Amino acid sequence: MRIHLDRSRCSGHGRCFSLAPEVFDYDDEGFSVLKHETITPELEAAAQLGAGGCPEQAITLEDD
Ligand code: SF4
Repeated sequence: MRIHLDRSRCSGHGRCFSLAPEVFDYDDEGFSVLKHETITPELEAAAQLGAGGCPEQAITLEDD
């Protein structure tokens, strides 16, 4: 599974990295940064939790 973050939509609410710190980090200004581009099966649940928690729909997941 691949993950994509649309930084132009990110408002820095921080929900993604609060919900799933194993997948998301944040930069100096509080905007989300991906820790991985490819989501392994062990990270899928966390990635989906973070993506689902984003109020801006900035995070998308797609199957390989
Ligand atoms: S939850 Fe969405 S808007 Fe908020 S920091 Fe994460 S990607 Fe950005």
